[in-house]
Amino acid sequence: MKSAKLIDSKVKIIDIEKPSLEGKGAIIKVLGCGLCGSDIVKIKHATKDNEQQIKLGHEVVGQIVEINSNASFKVGDIVALGHHYPCFNCDFCRIGAYSMCETFKKSNISPCGFSEYIKVDENHLKYTVYKVPDNIEHEEISFLEPLACIVRAIRRAGYELNKDNSKSNALVLGLGSIGFLTVQALKAFGVNAYGYDINNERMEFASRFDISYKKDKYDVIFMTSGSSKAIPTALEHVRDGGKIVVFSSIENEEGYKNNDIYYRELSIIASYSPSPEDYKISYEFLCNKKVNVKGISTVYTLDNLAHAIEDNICGKIFKAYIKI
Ligand SMILES: [Zn+2]
Ligand SMILES: [Zn+2]
Repeated sequence: MKSAKLIDSKVKIIDIEKPSLEGKGAIIKVLGCGLCGSDIVKIKHATKDNEQQIKLGHEVVGQIVEINSNASFKVGDIVALGHHYPCFNCDFCRIGAYSMCETFKKSNISPCGFSEYIKVDENHLKYTVYKVPDNIEHEEISFLEPLACIVRAIRRAGYELNKDNSKSNALVLGLGSIGFLTVQALKAFGVNAYGYDINNERMEFASRFDISYKKDKYDVIFMTSGSSKAIPTALEHVRDGGKIVVFSSIENEEGYKNNDIYYRELSIIASYSPSPEDYKISYEFLCNKKVNVKGISTVYTLDNLAHAIEDNICGKIFKAYIKI
């Protein structure tokens, strides 16, 4: 079967053996997989020593073709899924830092999302796999994992679904695909949410999702921009006593100055990857169309994966969905 692999820092589609099911789990025929910003970061930072271990693609939609599980899925089910789950038992899990858990980091789909077939294990089926309803396009439900990451960031900021957040406001800095989803997800949490990007074209595209900018002081700033230039903008817009959620890596090591944070009593918090609870909320938001992801992705074939990556890096597209 075909599968993507990094070879000498280049993304190649190679022919490998189809995964086989031994013990519990499922084999899934991949129908499509979203290209994540983290895939691009992995490619950019790949070295000769680590490229063997790099798995590309985790925002999978597929069909179960073989299953041996206690979960309620069956052969033929169309599912969407993510790739990591925690152990719920270690010291990281105890403090709610699920994405820092060793099990979380080690767990993954095999061989990778940009493949014709993948294998998932019993815990994936329990925590990160969801049945796709008929009323949603595959391309749309492929946002299950990225939206779950966003849900976690929103919950890390202290927002909860069953609370009244209507007096709170938040600003999302950086309007790429993650920015569009973050503003909408904040609104689904009942927060007065706005977005900003220095790029006018992006601001214009954002208006399709009812996203606008308002000059104001905000309770929470979400940093989805990969540029350190957004840091002064965040400090300018955050209310004294407010929070800045770090939700993206940046190219250099620039950060927040001690006294900027101290005298204004700011909280700088980070959010990395989702927990199983976040998948549930993400799934509900997508299925009930509380977050609109239509028109964000551009579709490519697996053979054109390298092209999709190039187009994403140069900013020609917001997001790629690889149809397999
Ligand atoms: Zn992702
Ligand atoms: Zn753990």
